[in-house]
Amino acid sequence: MSDLIQLLPDHVANQIAAGEVVQRPASVIKELLENSIDAKASRIQVIIKDAGKTLVQVIDDGKGMSVTDARMSFERHATSKIKVADDLFSLQTKGFRGEALASIAAIAHVELKTKTEEDEIGTCIKIEGSQIGSQEACVTPEGTSISVKNLFYNIPARRNFLKSDAVETRHIIDEFQRVALAHPDISFSLVHNGNELFQLPTANFRQRITNIFGGKTNEKLVPVEEDTGIVQISGFVGKPEFAKKSRGEQFFFVNNRFIKSAYLNHAVVASFEGLLKDKSYPSYFLYLKVDPKSIDINIHPTKTEIKFDDEHALYAILKSAIKHSLGQFNVAPILDFER
Ligand code: ADP
Ligand code: MG
Repeated sequence: MSDLIQLLPDHVANQIAAGEVVQRPASVIKELLENSIDAKASRIQVIIKDAGKTLVQVIDDGKGMSVTDARMSFERHATSKIKVADDLFSLQTKGFRGEALASIAAIAHVELKTKTEEDEIGTCIKIEGSQIGSQEACVTPEGTSISVKNLFYNIPARRNFLKSDAVETRHIIDEFQRVALAHPDISFSLVHNGNELFQLPTANFRQRITNIFGGKTNEKLVPVEEDTGIVQISGFVGKPEFAKKSRGEQFFFVNNRFIKSAYLNHAVVASFEGLLKDKSYPSYFLYLKVDPKSIDINIHPTKTEIKFDDEHALYAILKSAIKHSLGQFNVAPILDFER
């Protein structure tokens, strides 16, 4: 029998990888925001049209890219963030897989404008379906602007799968808020169809939370602090009387990265034992700092799940820290007379 196996062309491989990284416009926002943060931006603007289906643009004032890097950034597995496999265990950046821009460029019309501090003039690139259409010198401020237009233009099944503008906008706001909450030292804005949805000045964590969720949130926050050899915890839990009927404001950040963890969520809920009415969910904004060596972020392409070396210890520390805070703030148990 003749040989059957052949390597997939790059644009096909990129399109397949895109399936994992980019589910919807909100995924594009997350990837672009993370790149801007890794580029040490202090101000990041997000502009979207039609819930991101027509346009997602992220503009930063970060370090920009050289002419060659600008082109390289769209290659798959091309990254400035790690060099050897060992670097995976001491990650200081959000990115490291080198596949976001390659994936996005495979399934959208992308325009990149970028300039570094050293360069006199910037570089502008147009790319679609992984093909670079043009690259030329252009006038653009220091930093990077990436516009992603007509997401999934070449994958009709994916485009049709997108939900209503209201639902996609909700996803975008969720992603935006997660990133903004993790980085109060950076100013962020979000504009949808010309309407400003958020304008967040640099702040501390408490201010950032209230800037996003409203001034009334301030009085609901109970500070949580703990520092052990395993983890440094800071942040807030919402007072029990403000617990919600749905899981809304529940945020874990590990080394400034938003993560989901059913296990750690359980620790929080357990620490509220006896304080919550049935079927209500506490709010929390908890920032955990751990040794990068003690976690594995590389278990899923979107990096929202991570593996901890010592999950049990973390659970116990978190639970007791929150219990302590709730106790200190004289949070009284709810007496449920109906039972
Ligand atoms: P990763 O973030 O995993 O490295 P990406 O595909 O997201 O992979 O980006 C590829 C590379 O492009 C990055 O490593 C970085 O060097 C460069 N880059 C992307 N976005 C920006 C930005 N906003 N500012 C400066 N450099 C950027
Ligand atoms: Mg990236």
